[in-house]
Amino acid sequence: MLNIVLFGPPGAGKGTQAEKIKKHYNLTHLSTGDIFRKNIKASTELGLLAKSYMDKGDLVPDEVTIKMLETEVTKYADSSGFIFDGFPRTKDQAIALDDFLSAKGSQINKMIALDVSEKELVNRLLERGKDSGRADDQDENIISNRIKVYEKKTAILAEYYNQQNKLASVNGSGSIDEITERIYFVIDN
Ligand code: AMP
Repeated sequence: MLNIVLFGPPGAGKGTQAEKIKKHYNLTHLSTGDIFRKNIKASTELGLLAKSYMDKGDLVPDEVTIKMLETEVTKYADSSGFIFDGFPRTKDQAIALDDFLSAKGSQINKMIALDVSEKELVNRLLERGKDSGRADDQDENIISNRIKVYEKKTAILAEYYNQQNKLASVNGSGSIDEITERIYFVIDN
């Protein structure tokens, strides 16, 4: 099994790159943001709850997010591996993921951290907001809160995986294909 955490601030290009990596290595792509958005569209109870946090750019509580992620992983029990996109986002989520995978005799093989300057992030998110219809990409205050939340609660996870010798940083600026090649290189080496 190959399990990858694709890491980086909002707008770093995780979703775009995850789609390519998933095909190249035959992995299941799990994006917690996408799963929440599907639930919002379907007006489920989970969607309603998630929306109240997402609309402000805050994190959905760990307990809810972890349970949802574990349900998704269990759904794809036959998968040859996973690419986790947007999860984990807190230390408790990272610990829960390690425990959950280890109970299945598996583990995270690598965390790939996409490096992009804050100025480029805001520009990319505002640009994406024009087509994506995502309210959280259209308002500079929500964007700036998402980046703040990332710095406060999520950025520390680079050190968490570094301590396990699993962190690989990749320059996230450049063309989509250039960045994909850099990611393939760190996965293969
Ligand atoms: P994303 O699509 O990854 O940018 O996520 C959009 C929003 O969904 C975030 O701003 C959070 O409100 C919520 N979200 C996604 N993943 C997580 C997570 N792992 N933990 C908590 N909230 C999350």
